[in-house]
Formats: sequence, structure tokens, C-alpha cells
Amino acid sequence: MLNLFALTCEEVAGEMSRRYGKGMYHAAALYREIFKKGSTSFAKTIEFSRSPSLAVQLAGDLRLPSCRIIATQEEEGVLKFASALADDRTIESVIIPARGRTTLCVSSQVGCRMGCRFCATGEMGYVRNLTVEEIVWQVHAARFKLNRRVDNIVFMGMGEPLDNLANVTGAVRVIGDQRGFDMAPSHITVSTAGHADGIRDLAALNIRKLRLAVSLNASNDELRTRLMPINQRYPLSRIKQELLAFPVEKGGVIFIEYVLLEGINDSREDAIGLARYLTGLPVRVNVIAFNPSGSNIYTAPGEENVRRFCGWLAGEKLFVRLRRSRGQAIMAACGQLGSAALGGEEKL
Ligand code: SF4
Repeated sequence: MLNLFALTCEEVAGEMSRRYGKGMYHAAALYREIFKKGSTSFAKTIEFSRSPSLAVQLAGDLRLPSCRIIATQEEEGVLKFASALADDRTIESVIIPARGRTTLCVSSQVGCRMGCRFCATGEMGYVRNLTVEEIVWQVHAARFKLNRRVDNIVFMGMGEPLDNLANVTGAVRVIGDQRGFDMAPSHITVSTAGHADGIRDLAALNIRKLRLAVSLNASNDELRTRLMPINQRYPLSRIKQELLAFPVEKGGVIFIEYVLLEGINDSREDAIGLARYLTGLPVRVNVIAFNPSGSNIYTAPGEENVRRFCGWLAGEKLFVRLRRSRGQAIMAACGQLGSAALGGEEKL
């Protein structure tokens, strides 16, 4: 089978040549129909109408993802959609319009093994990695099934993307193909809970302008390990070592995500500790007020506390932005995707 959603156009052309003795002329037409127009009627294109037997052969060999949208929920313009995969596992993705641009938050795994204490997906445990085609399908579904534009993609949905590095970077290649979605790496952000080996491996791939975000949430190992068990394996010193080595374009930044939990990580001391930790790194800090979900034991900070914390960071000369998290009512906000009811097995 020709697994189109897992291949760049160049690779499709290679397959066309190997299977049918054809090349880029037909591959580009197929790619254009599926990824630019959202149509499967490639047989009607000029390119294929001249080779009807090829169109029939290809239709028999073509493998498209057997994913389907099973639910959508919308609040304040934020649209969450749940997709059933071929094995009936469920993932969630979120479309977030803001300031004239639309960001699609995609999942990279069913569940997650990182077990962050403030995250609904973490409560599920790990089920499995998404394939390249399942990741790419989320973009296709947002564009053509839900008819939304997609300007930016963030890997901040279910799962730790660097725990599924090969498929995530495979999807980045397909999504970036100019003959298809044409979304440059500079419009794609991979967000990690601090998977230091993954940061190192991603750096080695040197995907120019791909953006990196690190969900930090604490500036000392004791607290961070309590909030994010992955910190036991990759303590703050190791993460910093990898961030210092990460290739950042001139003028570029690494995004630091900081989920603010009332009475846990929102003191002045926490802010100063964070600033100290980030010294020497080209960063922008995104502060996100915690969104309560499921059986979570943490409390959302008041508006005043959030502003005060941002003020302290700014006072330490950090470039800080308060990220307003929308979609709480439909559990589409940061850390709210998935539910324990979806089922999972393995935790870190
Ligand atoms: S915050 Fe991210 S890495 Fe942590 S458990 Fe949730 S999905 Fe996994």
C-alpha cells in the first residue's frame, strides 16, 4: 500500500517510479488534490485523466488514514475535536483562533507516560504512539473536515512529542512539504515536558527554525519532581545542558511554559529561582494559569496572583507573556485533553 499521509511528495514520486514507472508529474497532482484541496478525486485531474489505468491502479494501492471525527465541542471560538483511530482509540485536538491567526494543537500519543500531576492526559497513562499518518491526519481534518485555516501547529495536545520523536519529525516533514500543507517549521512548535534525550536528538536533526517549548513549571528539582515525575530521569541541570546546546536561529527563542498553581509555584522566590535558572538562555516565558480538570488536587491561581508573578519575572528582565487559556468549559485548555475514561496503562 502507498501510505500517502506518511510520505513527502518526493517520496511519493519515488514510490510512483518504483511501482508504475511514473514520477513527480503524477505524484504532485495526487499530493495537490489531497493536501491542498482536500479531495480524493485525483482521477479527474488532467494529469490522471490521460492515464486512467494508472488512476485505477493507484486508487487500489492508496492507503488513507481510517480516522474519523467522533465529537466536536466549541466555546469562545475554540474548537476541540475528538478523533477515533483505526483501533478505536481516541485522541483530541484543538483549534484556537487568536489575533487573526489560527493555531492547531495536535496530539502525538494516545495518553502519555510522563504523568504530570496537573494534567488530565497524564492521568490516563500511556497507551501508544501516534503514527506519522495519524498526526498528519489531524491537520487534514482541521483544514478539510472542519474547514478551518491552520497557520500554526503546536505539539501540545495529548502525549510527550519527544517520546515519539521519529513520528513527530516525520509528520513535520510531511506537513512542511511545499506541494502539500506547506507549513514551514517556523510555524510548528514541539513542546516537551523536559525529555532531555529527546531535546538532544531533536537538536541533532537540525530542523531549521523548528520551534521548541519546554514545560518547566518549577525551578528546583524537589518541586519539579513532585509536579513532573520525568524530572527524576532528567533533572533541571540536564535539561539546561541540552537547552544551551539547542540550535536557536539568530533572534529566535526557546519557549518556556510555566503553569501557575496557586500556593505551589507562584511565590516571588519561585519567580527569582526561575529567572536564575534561565540565565544565559534565549527564552520567552509563557505563564499559563492552571486549568482544573478531573481529579486534580491543584487550584487555579487568582487573576491578581498571575499578574503579580508575571510582574516579578519581568522585573528579573525576562521576556514574559501571560497566555490566556481558553476553552476551559469544554476541557480544551492546556493540560485538560483526554480523560481517564479513555483508558491507559503505563506510567513513568
Ligand atoms: S503535560 Fe504533557 S507531558 Fe505532562 S502528562 Fe500531560 S501530556 Fe504528558
